[in-house]
Amino acid sequence: MDPEDRARLTAVQVSATRPAFTAVLSGGAAMLVVTAILEWTGAAPGIGYPWWLVLLAGLAVGAMAWANWRLRDWRLRLLVMLGATATIGVFLSVPVPQAAGAADQFPIRTGLFHLIPIALLALTVRRWSVVLLVGTVVALAAVRLSLFNAPASGLAIYWLYTATTIAFGLMLSAYRTDFAVEAFRARQVLWKQAATDALTGLPNRAGWERDAARVYEDAGHRGAPRSLVFFDVDRFKDVNDRWGHAEGDEVLRSLGAALASRLGPDCYAARMGGEEFIALHIDAVPAAVERFAQRVRADFATLNARHGCTLSAGIAFAHPGESLAECMRRADEALYAAKEGGRDRIVLAS
Ligand code: GH3
Ligand code: MG
Ligand code: MG
Repeated sequence: MDPEDRARLTAVQVSATRPAFTAVLSGGAAMLVVTAILEWTGAAPGIGYPWWLVLLAGLAVGAMAWANWRLRDWRLRLLVMLGATATIGVFLSVPVPQAAGAADQFPIRTGLFHLIPIALLALTVRRWSVVLLVGTVVALAAVRLSLFNAPASGLAIYWLYTATTIAFGLMLSAYRTDFAVEAFRARQVLWKQAATDALTGLPNRAGWERDAARVYEDAGHRGAPRSLVFFDVDRFKDVNDRWGHAEGDEVLRSLGAALASRLGPDCYAARMGGEEFIALHIDAVPAAVERFAQRVRADFATLNARHGCTLSAGIAFAHPGESLAECMRRADEALYAAKEGGRDRIVLAS
């Protein structure tokens, strides 16, 4: 996959996972709020923080979940996500030292907390975000250990538990990424098929409308010269009538090949339908555009000498600020004038 596609895929995944991210952070906020209520009512023992502080932390994480949904910049969203993870980790699973019964709560609360990083890791797209999230989870584990030593189950099991949490999160992340990559590739193939003319391999009208419009507009903003050449096979109906439709297809294929082989780096060509083709030139001087049209016509005549096929062309050089549709209309008018003038020629739009 090229870097541009990779960036596009990342952007697609980031926006696709945003709702789930917000949901997981909201879930973390809800866990804190419920915990605070359980502690306040005495239904569950606390871990040393006053219940209202746990409630405040829950509300703060709720606000961070909301910010994660609203923020545009992914770096800010990453900071919010790490902040929310740390807050949930501290208030859910790092007891205050010397709090009564805190040590008993340590393994249970830690287990509750670890659901959050598993879900967040599964959704994290960027490599650095994954590294920072794993770092946050490991740091929280280290803080717990430094405050409370190893739980009764032992140090090794404790770290195994943390490592398993991370591994599960990463496994789910790989699974999700696989899906995203497959869907992205399938969409690309479908789009390519939908935008390509099966006979000539050139872009079709849909491809032209998607890409040429963008290239044309971008060049316009840069103030670069833009020109359009419309081609139409002369008396193509006669070729079909005389040589058959399959032979007619061959003629069209040869025109597609002639066009493709004459395209420069800043040229874009498409089959607009039937025996009509178009080429967009960026940054080309008028003489070069005319030379291009002349060469395509000559190549086409040579390739189809036995059919006696010729090609007419209409050329329009875009005015500053002129829309693609307007420029295409002028090129089409020039083509019409070429037909009116007897065919097998180039006419420049006024
Ligand atoms: P003109 O010189 O005025 O352009 O005359 P023309 O006969 O080329 O123009 P017209 O528009 O009357 O005919 C175009 C023909 O192109 C009619 C249609 O059957 C044929 N055609 C359109 N698409 C295809 C195709 O994919 N394959 C083949 N073989 N023929 C096609
Ligand atoms: Mg024709
Ligand atoms: Mg035609």
